[in-house]
Amino acid sequence: MLLPEVASRTLHPAPPESYTIFTGGCNFKCLHCQNWSISQYPDNGMRVDGFVNPAALAREAVSAIESPAGRLMGADRIFFSGGEPTIHLPYIEKVVFEARKLNRSCKVNFDTNGFMTESSLERILDFTTSMTFDIKAYHDEIHRAMTGAPVEPVLRNAEIVATRAPEKLWEYRIVVIPGVNEEDVGPICRFLARLSGDLPVCFLAFRPNFVMENHPRASRGLMTKCLSLASEAGLRNTAWAGVTGLPGSFRNIDTLSDAAYERAGAKTAGSYASSHGCETHPRDCGTCPASDACTIKRIIPGKSC
Ligand code: SF4
Repeated sequence: MLLPEVASRTLHPAPPESYTIFTGGCNFKCLHCQNWSISQYPDNGMRVDGFVNPAALAREAVSAIESPAGRLMGADRIFFSGGEPTIHLPYIEKVVFEARKLNRSCKVNFDTNGFMTESSLERILDFTTSMTFDIKAYHDEIHRAMTGAPVEPVLRNAEIVATRAPEKLWEYRIVVIPGVNEEDVGPICRFLARLSGDLPVCFLAFRPNFVMENHPRASRGLMTKCLSLASEAGLRNTAWAGVTGLPGSFRNIDTLSDAAYERAGAKTAGSYASSHGCETHPRDCGTCPASDACTIKRIIPGKSC
């Protein structure tokens, strides 16, 4: 992408109610991505809205929030999501600058996977009103197998937000995937509880998607177990959301035989990646020599399995 591209934008009723701008592209290749058509753009050839002049986008967003439909919905902010909005940070700063010329108190939410430099995080905290912050795993090998990226920057940034700007934290979000990252729910909870027992955390039941389009959903029992683990760790402000209990299977994956991963969840995620053409393990998309030819980012669910 030569210019930052907007994948789509719309008034959106999910809390925090907003005018949501989905930007194209992502620095992760999550096997379970629910926004795969956006996140793997442009490699997957899907269509997006394209480049939108930042002043025009700001006018559109402020106008939508102040419209009767926006007021009825309770929309009170521009919500940047993706993909990963961080990869378009200068563009987003410009949109926010233009929006606040129109409405000085215009609120902003930044929805992120947490994978950015400290200086980028400082820039985001400078303008954002709230953050929704995904934590996908605690152990590096599980995080790499799921996302193709190391976990250390994510945990470092989660700690920075919790300690320097907890008032900006809407919630940490943890998508719970049976047999993949469920073993990391306890460690993530203990990590966050050490920072503060009051941090808001929402567990989201995995919805089959992308490479993992046939994987079983999380059960209601697993989601309530997450709340128990959070409570045992000392977290007091937790919830779970999502649809549970639909069937699925681990079909179409061959168990990865090499020793790149030790933990069961990492082996399962690595096996999904391997079965769909990823040859680099542990996954590290940022340095992968096969990145240009990568088949994962070109997968269209429903056609590949
Ligand atoms: S082939 Fe390389 S770029 Fe593609 S998913 Fe695997 S590690 Fe990432």
